Amino acid sequence: MSLKQFAVLGLGRFGSSIAKTLYDMGHEVLAIDNSEEKVQAIANMVTQAVQADSTDEKSLKALGIRNFPCVVIAIGQDIQASIMATLIVKEMGVEHIVVKAQNPLHGKVLEKIGAHRIVYPERDMGYRVAHNLLSPNILDYIELSPDYSILEFVATSSMIGKTIKDLNIRAEFGINIMAIKSEKDAINVAPRAEDLIHEDDVLVVVGHNDDLREFEGKMA
Ligand code: ADP
Repeated sequence: MSLKQFAVLGLGRFGSSIAKTLYDMGHEVLAIDNSEEKVQAIANMVTQAVQADSTDEKSLKALGIRNFPCVVIAIGQDIQASIMATLIVKEMGVEHIVVKAQNPLHGKVLEKIGAHRIVYPERDMGYRVAHNLLSPNILDYIELSPDYSILEFVATSSMIGKTIKDLNIRAEFGINIMAIKSEKDAINVAPRAEDLIHEDDVLVVVGHNDDLREFEGKMA
């Protein structure tokens, strides 16, 4: 993975987690918040942490935000500040702008302004946890669009020892196995019909939400 530069505006729970994770993964991270306390708390865990108001165009210009290929705006509670920061960063011509939205209306405004990706962390995490509660075999649920998702599913006992062909998942449910994760972090990203399912394998499947739900219901 090539080294990338990110600026994260807003260091609440979501923003600080993104900033620290990107830095831990070896990327360059400029973290910004208007609270000195938040800046101090993260200073040793990112490349640079700066106290600044993200709604102040001059400050963002002085920090060279326009040169960052990706800017994450993680100001959730203060919707007005989030919208203003997004507008300023957009006008600077930043290539990829990711913004945390508080609610669908906030998301709609961000979309109109031209944010490239809008995320709803609380909603998405609630969705994932709910799926996992209903079916412990489901490790993760990632929404690709309102209709399509990716599901990580721990192979059930009835699947073990069978081949992908035997499972007949594509014909029966209209969904596809994209990858199989096995022990020791091995991942088969091009599973073939004759590949066997082993105990503790995790199937990564993609499909229409209705079909995935049917698969969950029958298999879990
Ligand atoms: P979370 O739910 O992820 O904790 P919050 O909305 O509570 O998110 O936190 C947002 C963070 O953004 C806070 O640390 C706050 O100080 C910061 N923030 C709010 N407004 C601005 C602004 N205008 N400029 C910079 N940081 C801001």
